[in-house]
Amino acid sequence: MRLIAANWKMHKTVKETEEYIREFLKFVEHPESREILLCPPFTSLYVAGKLLEGSGVKLGAQNCYYEKQGAFTGEVSLPMLKEVGCEYVIIGHSERRYLFGENDELINKKLIACLEEGIRPILCVGEKLEDRETGMTFKVVETQVRLALSGLEEHTDGVDIAYEPVWAIGTGIPAMPEDAVSVHGFIKQLLNDINPKNKGKTRVLYGGSVKPENAGEYMKHSEIDGLLVGGASLNPETFAKIVYSF
Ligand code: PGA
Repeated sequence: MRLIAANWKMHKTVKETEEYIREFLKFVEHPESREILLCPPFTSLYVAGKLLEGSGVKLGAQNCYYEKQGAFTGEVSLPMLKEVGCEYVIIGHSERRYLFGENDELINKKLIACLEEGIRPILCVGEKLEDRETGMTFKVVETQVRLALSGLEEHTDGVDIAYEPVWAIGTGIPAMPEDAVSVHGFIKQLLNDINPKNKGKTRVLYGGSVKPENAGEYMKHSEIDGLLVGGASLNPETFAKIVYSF
């Protein structure tokens, strides 16, 4: 099933979360026809989990730590996320990589922990503008995917991937659907090489300046299994338009 995910980033207090979800649920119909996922900040997860109960809309976190508990000030573990109802967690978002210094090794540890805990990770990969301009897109994406999945070659079907070109995130400059399709095709081929048994079980989402006006253009293509939406997911009606754009 295709997956449309909202990444709220560092937006919305508990009160704003409640208002959003009450409004958003008015637009939700046939939740069995597509997977809909909200990823609020940590402080809103508990209340979001309560409000989404029975709605068919799923809950995810934007990050996690790989240890279950311990002296890791400021971190949040997967059992904690599971208890508040998270079924997904976004791992290795470019903002985590480039603003907070997350590297492929840390991302790999987080993915391993997610699979052990039974929370489905959405692994984010994508090239920077200079990579694209120097023809390095496929190389960069391949390296990120291979390192993130290292040791998980047999379990790739437990992971979804979001292709998010860094230059398209929050810039209003989305990737051309054809360009996204070619990277998605490449990632799917790579997954097949890594694990011939994968057989399409890993969804590959597109993210980067998705809005209601362009969402349908991506979803026309069978290589694109869903969308990861930042800015345009912050308004419930706008996000609902994206969810029902196909
Ligand atoms: P954007 O962000 O939709 O605001 O470009 C996407 C993302 O960072 O996941």
